[in-house]
Amino acid sequence: MFSTASRRVISGILAAAVIVGLAACAPERVPTASPSPSPSVTALPAPVDKVKSFFDKTKYSLDDPKSVWVINDKLRPLNPINYAPPDMVVAPVKHISTPLMRPAAAAAITKMFAASAAEGGGEMQIQNSYRSYSTQVNTHQYWVNQLGDKGADAQSARAGYSEHQTGWTADVASYPSKCDIQECFATTPQGKWLAANAWRFGFVIRYPKGKQAITGYIYEPWHIRYVGTYLSTEMHNTGILTLEEFFGLPPAPDYAH
Ligand SMILES: [Zn+2]
Repeated sequence: MFSTASRRVISGILAAAVIVGLAACAPERVPTASPSPSPSVTALPAPVDKVKSFFDKTKYSLDDPKSVWVINDKLRPLNPINYAPPDMVVAPVKHISTPLMRPAAAAAITKMFAASAAEGGGEMQIQNSYRSYSTQVNTHQYWVNQLGDKGADAQSARAGYSEHQTGWTADVASYPSKCDIQECFATTPQGKWLAANAWRFGFVIRYPKGKQAITGYIYEPWHIRYVGTYLSTEMHNTGILTLEEFFGLPPAPDYAH
């Protein structure tokens, strides 16, 4: 029915189809990490809780300043140091200064403020959000002039080292204002609700209590960082409070020089 040449072509096509088929199936293979106790030939699917507990710590970059998981602390300046986010928007929420954030963070904080009001956490507003490199240069220089280098570092982040430069961060205040940018914000209804619920909307309290030796910053119950719900839920479930500890990065209590 077919010539030898045609048969070769057909068997070539079949072989290619098999290879493509295998490649397409590969990601669906059951992970071999959990050894099967039975010698049965048929591999059992991994238990549901095992599948759920797998968390991909390489899903997003920790270094790319555009990444939702970028980690900048006193040992990890943004690169480039004068990075500016490409896609800032104004979050449609109450605010003290213009609430500029990356779109995903702006959408999440809008949803979160509405949930807080609806669930008894009270009204919230944004005190500070995005700060550009040049704003931070000026702010830091102001403190250097006032207090010298050492005093300035204790008061304000150096330009390129502030999480506010990523567009993923906001300082949240209660509305009307009470204990703004002060530790007592944690005792307000808003501060309590935020601590308990921020993870549901993809935020973490970035500088938790008792973690200054790791994060480099005092307890800031008002400073939230958007990381997305994939990571915020995992941190909530595992009880790991800082990004440095979660990703196994070195503590960053101070600048390297
Ligand atoms: Zn802040």
